Amino acid sequence: MPEISGNQINGLGELGRRAPRMVYWAPNPDVIPHGNLQRWFYSVDPDNPHLGKARKERTRVTDFPMPELSDRPVNKSPEDWRCALDRFVDEGHCDMIGVARMSKDWVYDGADVRQKRIVIVGVQHDFEQISTAPEATAGAEVVRQYGRAAASAKRVAGWLMEQGWPAEAITGPMTGDVTLIPPALACGFGELGKHGSIINPEFGASFRLSGVLTDAPIAETPARMFGIDEFCQNCRICEDACPPEAIGPDKQTVRGTEKWYVDFDKCLPFFNQTHGCAICIAACPWSRPGVGLNLAAKLQRRARRKSES
Ligand code: SF4
Ligand code: SF4
Repeated sequence: MPEISGNQINGLGELGRRAPRMVYWAPNPDVIPHGNLQRWFYSVDPDNPHLGKARKERTRVTDFPMPELSDRPVNKSPEDWRCALDRFVDEGHCDMIGVARMSKDWVYDGADVRQKRIVIVGVQHDFEQISTAPEATAGAEVVRQYGRAAASAKRVAGWLMEQGWPAEAITGPMTGDVTLIPPALACGFGELGKHGSIINPEFGASFRLSGVLTDAPIAETPARMFGIDEFCQNCRICEDACPPEAIGPDKQTVRGTEKWYVDFDKCLPFFNQTHGCAICIAACPWSRPGVGLNLAAKLQRRARRKSES
Protein backbone atom coordinates (compact mmCIF):
# COMPACT_ATOMS: atom_id res chain seq x y z
CA MET A 1 0.00 0.00 0.00
CA PRO A 2 1.30 3.52 -0.72
CA GLU A 3 1.67 5.95 2.17
CA ILE A 4 -1.34 7.99 1.10
CA SER A 5 -4.75 6.59 1.99
CA GLY A 6 -7.16 5.86 -0.88
CA ASN A 7 -9.87 7.42 1.27
CA GLN A 8 -7.90 10.67 1.31
CA ILE A 9 -7.59 10.62 -2.50
CA ASN A 10 -11.36 10.02 -2.69
CA GLY A 11 -12.00 13.07 -0.46
CA LEU A 12 -13.45 11.27 2.57
CA GLY A 13 -14.30 13.85 5.24
CA GLU A 14 -13.77 16.82 2.89
CA LEU A 15 -16.57 19.37 3.25
CA GLY A 16 -15.95 21.31 0.02
CA ARG A 17 -16.83 20.17 -3.48
CA ARG A 18 -13.98 19.42 -5.87
CA ALA A 19 -13.29 17.26 -8.92
CA PRO A 20 -12.81 13.53 -8.23
CA ARG A 21 -9.25 12.14 -8.33
CA MET A 22 -8.48 8.77 -9.84
CA VAL A 23 -7.75 6.28 -7.09
CA TYR A 24 -7.73 3.00 -9.07
CA TRP A 25 -8.23 1.54 -12.56
CA ALA A 26 -6.02 4.16 -14.19
CA PRO A 27 -5.36 3.57 -17.92
CA ASN A 28 -1.71 4.24 -16.98
CA PRO A 29 -1.06 2.84 -13.46
CA ASP A 30 2.22 4.81 -13.27
CA VAL A 31 0.29 8.04 -12.65
CA ILE A 32 -1.60 6.95 -9.49
CA PRO A 33 -0.23 6.15 -6.01
CA HIS A 34 -1.97 2.73 -6.02
CA GLY A 35 -0.59 1.87 -9.48
CA ASN A 36 1.63 -0.99 -8.23
CA LEU A 37 -1.41 -2.57 -6.56
CA GLN A 38 -3.37 -2.23 -9.78
CA ARG A 39 -0.58 -4.05 -11.64
CA TRP A 40 -0.42 -6.69 -8.89
CA PHE A 41 -4.17 -7.39 -9.36
CA TYR A 42 -3.35 -8.91 -12.75
CA SER A 43 -0.60 -11.10 -11.30
CA VAL A 44 -3.01 -13.08 -9.10
CA ASP A 45 -3.73 -16.47 -10.66
CA PRO A 46 -2.52 -15.36 -14.14
CA ASP A 47 -3.02 -18.83 -15.66
CA ASN A 48 -6.63 -19.16 -14.53
CA PRO A 49 -8.47 -20.25 -17.72
CA HIS A 50 -11.75 -18.42 -16.84
CA LEU A 51 -9.98 -15.09 -16.26
CA GLY A 52 -7.63 -15.54 -19.21
CA LYS A 53 -10.44 -16.17 -21.69
CA ALA A 54 -12.58 -13.26 -20.42
CA ARG A 55 -9.64 -10.81 -20.46
CA LYS A 56 -8.65 -11.85 -23.98
CA GLU A 57 -12.20 -11.25 -25.22
CA ARG A 58 -12.39 -7.83 -23.51
CA THR A 59 -9.10 -6.79 -25.14
CA ARG A 60 -10.42 -7.92 -28.53
CA VAL A 61 -13.48 -5.70 -28.01
CA THR A 62 -11.58 -2.63 -26.82
CA ASP A 63 -9.09 -2.91 -29.71
CA PHE A 64 -11.84 -3.26 -32.32
CA PRO A 65 -11.66 -0.26 -34.75
CA MET A 66 -14.48 2.31 -34.85
CA PRO A 67 -16.31 3.32 -38.07
CA GLU A 68 -15.54 6.61 -39.85
CA LEU A 69 -17.53 9.73 -38.97
CA SER A 70 -20.15 10.38 -41.64
CA ASP A 71 -19.94 13.92 -43.10
CA ARG A 72 -23.75 14.09 -43.39
CA PRO A 73 -25.19 14.46 -39.86
CA VAL A 74 -28.70 13.04 -39.43
CA ASN A 75 -31.15 15.34 -37.64
CA LYS A 76 -33.94 14.04 -35.40
CA SER A 77 -35.85 15.44 -32.43
CA PRO A 78 -34.18 14.82 -29.02
CA GLU A 79 -36.99 12.37 -28.14
CA ASP A 80 -36.57 10.45 -31.42
CA TRP A 81 -32.82 10.12 -30.74
CA ARG A 82 -33.59 8.77 -27.27
CA CYS A 83 -36.15 6.26 -28.61
CA ALA A 84 -33.65 5.14 -31.28
CA LEU A 85 -31.27 4.11 -28.48
CA ASP A 86 -33.81 1.59 -27.14
CA ARG A 87 -32.96 -0.76 -29.96
CA PHE A 88 -29.60 -1.53 -28.30
CA VAL A 89 -31.59 -3.03 -25.39
CA ASP A 90 -34.17 -4.66 -27.69
CA GLU A 91 -31.40 -6.35 -29.70
CA GLY A 92 -29.68 -7.61 -26.51
CA HIS A 93 -26.47 -5.54 -26.78
CA CYS A 94 -27.11 -4.13 -23.28
CA ASP A 95 -29.77 -4.44 -20.57
CA MET A 96 -30.19 -0.74 -19.73
CA ILE A 97 -29.50 2.53 -21.55
CA GLY A 98 -29.88 6.11 -20.35
CA VAL A 99 -28.67 9.62 -21.14
CA ALA A 100 -27.42 12.40 -18.85
CA ARG A 101 -26.21 15.95 -19.46
CA MET A 102 -22.46 15.94 -18.70
CA SER A 103 -21.36 17.63 -15.50
CA LYS A 104 -17.83 18.73 -14.67
CA ASP A 105 -18.37 17.08 -11.26
CA TRP A 106 -17.92 13.70 -13.02
CA VAL A 107 -14.65 14.58 -14.77
CA TYR A 108 -11.38 13.59 -13.08
CA ASP A 109 -9.11 16.35 -11.84
CA GLY A 110 -6.96 17.62 -14.74
CA ALA A 111 -9.04 15.99 -17.51
CA ASP A 112 -10.87 18.01 -20.15
CA VAL A 113 -14.21 16.72 -21.41
CA ARG A 114 -16.07 18.97 -23.84
CA GLN A 115 -19.00 16.78 -24.92
CA LYS A 116 -22.41 17.87 -23.66
CA ARG A 117 -23.95 14.45 -23.03
CA ILE A 118 -23.10 10.97 -21.85
CA VAL A 119 -25.00 7.83 -22.83
CA ILE A 120 -24.70 5.10 -20.18
CA VAL A 121 -25.15 1.40 -20.90
CA GLY A 122 -25.58 -1.30 -18.25
CA VAL A 123 -25.19 -5.07 -18.61
CA GLN A 124 -26.31 -7.64 -16.06
CA HIS A 125 -24.09 -10.34 -14.53
CA ASP A 126 -25.13 -13.96 -14.62
CA PHE A 127 -26.32 -14.35 -11.01
CA GLU A 128 -25.11 -17.94 -10.66
CA GLN A 129 -21.59 -16.90 -11.70
CA ILE A 130 -21.40 -13.74 -9.59
CA SER A 131 -22.67 -15.70 -6.57
CA THR A 132 -19.46 -17.73 -6.60
CA ALA A 133 -17.60 -14.60 -5.31
CA PRO A 134 -14.86 -14.48 -4.10
CA GLU A 135 -13.85 -17.34 -6.44
CA ALA A 136 -12.17 -16.61 -9.77
CA THR A 137 -15.35 -17.63 -11.63
CA ALA A 138 -17.05 -14.48 -10.25
CA GLY A 139 -14.04 -12.34 -11.24
CA ALA A 140 -14.21 -13.82 -14.74
CA GLU A 141 -17.93 -13.00 -14.94
CA VAL A 142 -17.14 -9.37 -14.02
CA VAL A 143 -14.52 -9.18 -16.79
CA ARG A 144 -16.92 -10.86 -19.23
CA GLN A 145 -19.62 -8.27 -18.51
CA TYR A 146 -17.12 -5.41 -18.71
CA GLY A 147 -16.32 -6.78 -22.18
CA ARG A 148 -20.00 -6.89 -23.07
CA ALA A 149 -20.54 -3.34 -21.75
CA ALA A 150 -17.53 -2.14 -23.77
CA ALA A 151 -18.86 -3.82 -26.92
CA SER A 152 -22.24 -2.22 -26.35
CA ALA A 153 -20.78 1.28 -25.79
CA LYS A 154 -18.61 0.94 -28.90
CA ARG A 155 -21.65 -0.18 -30.89
CA VAL A 156 -23.62 2.89 -29.72
CA ALA A 157 -20.65 5.20 -30.44
CA GLY A 158 -20.14 3.61 -33.87
CA TRP A 159 -23.81 4.03 -34.72
CA LEU A 160 -23.69 7.73 -33.72
CA MET A 161 -20.58 8.22 -35.91
CA GLU A 162 -22.42 6.66 -38.85
CA GLN A 163 -25.24 9.16 -38.15
CA GLY A 164 -22.67 11.99 -38.45
CA TRP A 165 -22.28 12.75 -34.73
CA PRO A 166 -18.82 12.39 -33.11
CA ALA A 167 -18.91 9.94 -30.20
CA GLU A 168 -16.30 8.49 -27.85
CA ALA A 169 -16.78 5.18 -26.03
CA ILE A 170 -15.74 5.18 -22.36
CA THR A 171 -15.19 1.57 -21.34
CA GLY A 172 -14.95 0.22 -17.81
CA PRO A 173 -13.20 -0.30 -15.54
CA MET A 174 -10.40 1.95 -16.93
CA THR A 175 -12.73 4.76 -17.89
CA GLY A 176 -10.03 7.40 -18.37
CA ASP A 177 -11.42 10.92 -17.89
CA VAL A 178 -14.89 10.27 -16.49
CA THR A 179 -16.29 8.44 -13.48
CA LEU A 180 -19.40 6.46 -14.51
CA ILE A 181 -21.45 5.91 -11.33
CA PRO A 182 -22.67 9.54 -10.97
CA PRO A 183 -23.96 9.83 -14.57
CA ALA A 184 -25.56 6.38 -14.25
CA LEU A 185 -27.42 7.67 -11.17
CA ALA A 186 -28.35 10.88 -13.01
CA CYS A 187 -29.78 8.98 -16.00
CA GLY A 188 -32.14 6.88 -13.88
CA PHE A 189 -30.32 3.57 -13.41
CA GLY A 190 -31.11 3.49 -9.68
CA GLU A 191 -29.86 4.65 -6.29
CA LEU A 192 -26.50 4.30 -4.57
CA GLY A 193 -26.50 1.35 -2.17
CA LYS A 194 -24.67 1.03 1.14
CA HIS A 195 -22.11 -1.19 -0.64
CA GLY A 196 -21.13 1.71 -2.92
CA SER A 197 -22.66 0.21 -6.08
CA ILE A 198 -25.83 1.37 -7.84
CA ILE A 199 -28.96 -0.65 -7.10
CA ASN A 200 -31.54 -0.94 -9.87
CA PRO A 201 -34.93 -2.54 -9.06
CA GLU A 202 -34.70 -4.99 -11.95
CA PHE A 203 -30.99 -5.88 -11.93
CA GLY A 204 -30.07 -5.18 -8.31
CA ALA A 205 -26.41 -4.23 -7.96
CA SER A 206 -25.43 -7.00 -10.34
CA PHE A 207 -24.40 -5.10 -13.48
CA ARG A 208 -21.50 -3.26 -15.11
CA LEU A 209 -21.33 0.08 -16.91
CA SER A 210 -19.76 1.74 -19.92
CA GLY A 211 -20.49 5.12 -21.50
CA VAL A 212 -20.43 7.20 -24.69
CA LEU A 213 -19.55 10.90 -24.78
CA THR A 214 -21.29 12.84 -27.54
CA ASP A 215 -22.84 16.15 -28.57
CA ALA A 216 -25.72 14.41 -30.37
CA PRO A 217 -28.88 16.19 -29.15
CA ILE A 218 -30.41 13.17 -27.37
CA ALA A 219 -33.15 13.80 -24.77
CA GLU A 220 -31.93 13.06 -21.25
CA THR A 221 -33.51 10.35 -19.11
CA PRO A 222 -34.29 11.55 -15.56
CA ALA A 223 -32.93 10.24 -12.25
CA ARG A 224 -35.33 7.87 -10.46
CA MET A 225 -35.89 7.06 -6.79
CA PHE A 226 -37.34 3.76 -5.64
CA GLY A 227 -36.94 3.93 -1.83
CA ILE A 228 -33.66 1.96 -1.98
CA ASP A 229 -31.67 4.53 0.00
CA GLU A 230 -34.10 4.22 2.92
CA PHE A 231 -34.12 0.42 2.58
CA CYS A 232 -30.32 0.39 3.00
CA GLN A 233 -30.64 2.29 6.28
CA ASN A 234 -32.51 -0.69 7.76
CA CYS A 235 -30.49 -3.49 6.13
CA ARG A 236 -26.99 -4.62 6.98
CA ILE A 237 -26.55 -7.74 4.84
CA CYS A 238 -23.57 -6.34 2.90
CA GLU A 239 -21.99 -4.94 6.08
CA ASP A 240 -22.06 -8.42 7.62
CA ALA A 241 -21.00 -10.17 4.40
CA CYS A 242 -17.89 -8.07 3.73
CA PRO A 243 -14.87 -10.03 5.05
CA PRO A 244 -12.57 -7.01 5.70
CA GLU A 245 -15.48 -4.97 7.22
CA ALA A 246 -15.08 -2.20 4.65
CA ILE A 247 -18.80 -1.30 4.61
CA GLY A 248 -19.96 0.94 7.45
CA PRO A 249 -23.43 1.48 8.93
CA ASP A 250 -23.65 5.21 8.22
CA LYS A 251 -23.29 7.60 5.32
CA GLN A 252 -20.11 9.71 5.20
CA THR A 253 -19.20 13.11 3.79
CA VAL A 254 -17.18 12.81 0.60
CA ARG A 255 -16.16 16.00 -1.24
CA GLY A 256 -19.08 17.93 0.20
CA THR A 257 -21.77 15.27 -0.31
CA GLU A 258 -23.19 12.92 2.30
CA LYS A 259 -23.42 9.42 0.81
CA TRP A 260 -22.79 5.70 1.32
CA TYR A 261 -19.07 5.08 1.16
CA VAL A 262 -16.92 1.93 1.18
CA ASP A 263 -13.59 2.16 3.03
CA PHE A 264 -11.19 1.89 0.08
CA ASP A 265 -8.14 0.97 2.20
CA LYS A 266 -9.97 -1.94 3.84
CA CYS A 267 -11.67 -3.19 0.66
CA LEU A 268 -8.71 -3.05 -1.73
CA PRO A 269 -6.34 -5.71 -0.30
CA PHE A 270 -9.16 -8.31 -0.14
CA PHE A 271 -10.53 -7.16 -3.53
CA ASN A 272 -7.08 -7.61 -5.08
CA GLN A 273 -6.45 -11.04 -3.57
CA THR A 274 -9.83 -12.36 -4.74
CA HIS A 275 -9.93 -11.35 -8.44
CA GLY A 276 -12.30 -8.41 -7.73
CA CYS A 277 -14.31 -9.80 -4.76
CA ALA A 278 -18.01 -8.84 -5.56
CA ILE A 279 -19.29 -10.56 -2.38
CA CYS A 280 -21.33 -7.45 -1.45
CA ILE A 281 -22.94 -7.31 -4.91
CA ALA A 282 -23.98 -10.98 -4.80
CA ALA A 283 -25.18 -10.80 -1.17
CA CYS A 284 -27.41 -7.73 -1.71
CA PRO A 285 -31.05 -8.91 -1.74
CA TRP A 286 -31.84 -6.62 -4.70
CA SER A 287 -29.41 -8.63 -6.87
CA ARG A 288 -31.32 -11.90 -6.47
CA PRO A 289 -33.27 -12.52 -9.71
CA GLY A 290 -36.99 -11.80 -9.39
CA VAL A 291 -36.67 -10.07 -6.00
CA GLY A 292 -35.97 -6.40 -6.78
CA LEU A 293 -39.11 -5.49 -8.72
CA ASN A 294 -41.34 -6.96 -5.98
CA LEU A 295 -39.35 -5.12 -3.33
CA ALA A 296 -39.67 -1.83 -5.25
CA ALA A 297 -43.45 -2.32 -5.65
CA LYS A 298 -43.76 -3.04 -1.92
CA LEU A 299 -41.76 0.09 -1.02
CA GLN A 300 -43.91 2.15 -3.38
CA ARG A 301 -47.12 0.83 -1.76
CA ARG A 302 -45.73 1.59 1.69
CA ALA A 303 -44.75 5.15 0.64
CA ARG A 304 -48.25 5.68 -0.83
CA ARG A 305 -49.92 4.50 2.37
CA LYS A 306 -47.67 6.77 4.41
CA SER A 307 -48.50 9.82 2.27
CA GLU A 308 -52.26 9.05 2.49
CA SER A 309 -52.36 8.62 6.28
S1 SF4 B 1 -27.20 -5.50 1.19
FE1 SF4 B 1 -28.79 -4.26 2.14
S2 SF4 B 1 -27.69 -2.48 2.97
FE2 SF4 B 1 -26.34 -3.48 1.53
S3 SF4 B 1 -26.66 -2.35 -0.37
FE3 SF4 B 1 -27.99 -4.16 -0.42
S4 SF4 B 1 -29.95 -3.41 0.39
FE4 SF4 B 1 -28.40 -1.89 0.92
S1 SF4 C 1 -15.91 -5.78 -2.82
FE1 SF4 C 1 -15.62 -7.33 -1.17
S2 SF4 C 1 -14.13 -6.36 0.19
FE2 SF4 C 1 -14.93 -4.73 -1.09
S3 SF4 C 1 -16.68 -3.86 0.02
FE3 SF4 C 1 -17.54 -5.47 -1.29
S4 SF4 C 1 -17.51 -7.32 0.01
FE4 SF4 C 1 -16.17 -5.84 0.96
